[in-house]
Amino acid sequence: MPLFDFSNDPRAKVDRIRRRTLKMIMEASKSSFPSEFAAFLRAEEGVIKELMLLPGTVSGNSHAIFRMSMLPIDFTVVGTIHSHPSDTSLPSDADLDLFRRYGWVHIITHAPYEMDCWTSYSGRGDIIELKVVD
Ligand code: ZN
Repeated sequence: MPLFDFSNDPRAKVDRIRRRTLKMIMEASKSSFPSEFAAFLRAEEGVIKELMLLPGTVSGNSHAIFRMSMLPIDFTVVGTIHSHPSDTSLPSDADLDLFRRYGWVHIITHAPYEMDCWTSYSGRGDIIELKVVD
């Protein structure tokens, strides 16, 4: 038996996002353009419901703008969201490195930040499906 079994962690079971949270993400991505917007994602019972903006969050023109020192000790935080000021939500190498180190669910948005301009990834960098719910 493994020492830690993370598959039973409720944070590994996130599979939905609230429509209004997604809308907020898109609006923030749009208004940050051409800089990146970044925040942490909070979930409850498998549904991403809230963004957590940290003091010191950098919005700049480079990827993986999260610093390890700002990672929260907060068990409702399931991952990250950041925007790309381009038309692709493909993760960069730095993004993949961040995904591997922290979190279960990661969202990348891309221009023009319409409601379908995003992709979600697992900690391994695989594309995962998040259902948009009301
Ligand atoms: Zn990125």
